[in-house]
Amino acid sequence: MGSVEPLARADKPRYRRAVRITVLASGSGGNVTLIETETTRILVDAGLTQRALAGRFASLGRELPEKFDAIVLTHAHGDHIGHAGAYAQRFDAPVFLTEATARALRMPSGVRTRVFGSKTAFDLGDLEIRPLPVPHDAPQIALVFGHAGQSVGLVTDLGAVPDSLPDHLRECTTLLLESNHDREQLARGPYPEFLKKRIASGVGHLENAQCAELLRALSPATRHVVLMHLSQTNNSPSLARIVAEDALRGREVELHVARQDTPLSVPIEPVLVARPAASQLRLF
Ligand SMILES: [Zn+2]
Ligand SMILES: [Zn+2]
Repeated sequence: MGSVEPLARADKPRYRRAVRITVLASGSGGNVTLIETETTRILVDAGLTQRALAGRFASLGRELPEKFDAIVLTHAHGDHIGHAGAYAQRFDAPVFLTEATARALRMPSGVRTRVFGSKTAFDLGDLEIRPLPVPHDAPQIALVFGHAGQSVGLVTDLGAVPDSLPDHLRECTTLLLESNHDREQLARGPYPEFLKKRIASGVGHLENAQCAELLRALSPATRHVVLMHLSQTNNSPSLARIVAEDALRGREVELHVARQDTPLSVPIEPVLVARPAASQLRLF
């Protein structure tokens, strides 16, 4: 290794992780994703009991925070909203949700709610959040979280990919995307016929092949993909991974699989934060 001239202190680049993503749980047994920047910390969905939530933080070697800046809800299914009221009270956090989700949800008195439009971008702390409706059997949204030049897409619980979705995800550096089931496994599996129909329908859940099709349409900006909301009955992490790997062949994308019972920290690379060098400042 050759010696490297140390940079003058004022010229030292500053690296930091622009946004930190931890999938605390993903699947029909409960969904919670933690999104953090240097100044903002939110939970997306509230499908774990408080005890299970604390357990996930403990398994990461972290204390359960006393406060979150917000609980953001995607849609009114129990595996996403089941503990929203309890979280809001415990963590003194407002609940952000669409009007349709608010109509379907009873919140304990005293809980602050903030209704956002399902197609309208809004700021939450230093995150910019961009929703887009996606087809599901409860009004559902895909969410893109933008911060410091990075964008993280969170897209689960959809039966089909709307034409507008690939463009909505165009800038995503990280994408958390549903890969719920294998069509054959679902058809041959033990679920009752009505449930098989519901899951496979255009307002059900995304199968591995649909997930792969969307992955093929991703922009080159995407460097991390996390497969989400896998069925424990009609899919397996290895099968979902094989299908997604095939779709991502030849691209520089790191692939991860989120689990129901084990948290996943997405290893997003720290980004270089631009700041003027002292020598440049002296020019003016
Ligand atoms: Zn769900
Ligand atoms: Zn759902």
